[in-house]
Amino acid sequence: NHCLSRKNMKISASITLAITAKAKKMKADGIDVVSFGAGEPDFNTPDHIRAAAIDAMEKGLTGYTASSGLLELKEAICDKFKNDNDLEYKPENIVVSNGAKHSLFNALQAICNPGDEVIVSVPYWVSYPELVKLADAKPVLVEALEENGFKYTKESLLKAINENTKAIILNSPNNPTGTVYTENELKEIAEIAVEKNLYIISDEIYEKLIYDGKHVSIASLGDEIKERTVVINGMSKAYAMTGWRIGYLAASKEIISVINNIQSHATSNPNTIAQYASIAALKGDQGPIEEMIKAFVERRNYMVEKINTIDYLSCRMPEGAFYVMVNISKIIGKTFNGFTINNSMDFSEYLLDYAKVAVVPGVAFGADNYIRLSYATSLENIKEGLKRIEEAIK
Ligand code: PLP
Repeated sequence: NHCLSRKNMKISASITLAITAKAKKMKADGIDVVSFGAGEPDFNTPDHIRAAAIDAMEKGLTGYTASSGLLELKEAICDKFKNDNDLEYKPENIVVSNGAKHSLFNALQAICNPGDEVIVSVPYWVSYPELVKLADAKPVLVEALEENGFKYTKESLLKAINENTKAIILNSPNNPTGTVYTENELKEIAEIAVEKNLYIISDEIYEKLIYDGKHVSIASLGDEIKERTVVINGMSKAYAMTGWRIGYLAASKEIISVINNIQSHATSNPNTIAQYASIAALKGDQGPIEEMIKAFVERRNYMVEKINTIDYLSCRMPEGAFYVMVNISKIIGKTFNGFTINNSMDFSEYLLDYAKVAVVPGVAFGADNYIRLSYATSLENIKEGLKRIEEAIK
């Protein structure tokens, strides 16, 4: 018959797309829009990384590599796991892909069967539920409430787990909340996973962007949890390399062999030149990360302090990533300058139309009482944007 793929027609378009498209159009029309929408560092890829890519091209290192990535890059990734996370992996435990998103896709494809359930915390990064559906499994949404620091609690997890549960997706530091789990919290989750025989997909893409505390990989908490964890990471956020499209995962050989086969037919190797650049990023000077962190801390502190002085708005101090989830529950039902705000989309549209400020409505993350502000933009923009928001809701 002529029906398009039923499974794939159920995949949602990004809710944020409409509002970002509108903000872009306004900017193109010469309107001075302040954007808090960025999902990527506002820094250029460091010089030595760009130089390594140029060098690879000039040396003619431009052909296919092994489908799962260059051995030298996998070795650099293993060194990173050892040095940063106290995790021992061998190159045969690593697959390099076209961004961490692709690694997540591969991991879920390798693990899931129809009818399996995968637990996702709300607010969630937009792609998790759709990636689970693409793997024929069912996303089970578990509220991670602000009063619990936007984290899973033991009770909330145990309530959501049943005989169909296959995996838990964990994202620390978190997008959109900036939350970082403590080692003890991770231990609790690891115990549950071992006891209930579940996989953990641990998305650690914001690992380097932590301002309070230290990153702990759940896989490092013991051999049993390591065996059942797929660690996801990548170059995008730590090295300001979003466009290079290199991500990677580490897992047991059993999982890796399924993923290798999928990737060998779906995409072959990720971009060869970007792989050489990634070797330079992992092995080279880590100074640029420190610089980026310094800027992010200053912006975060300003943003959080300012938001909490604005009537009707509040937010908790995020420990990592570059996002602030702003609680707008006191705005809902109010009318400003003739606009009535019934939900996060209304508020985001109002801010864009009236204040010329672009934000991401919380509904995109399953959390309609919030908007997400990114501080991957200059302090000057942050000051101006927050001033506009404050005036718009006076
Ligand atoms: N995971 C999370 C939580 C993210 O926020 C993002 C990017 O926004 C990704 C994964 C994907 O990153 P990549 O550019 O490596 O595909």
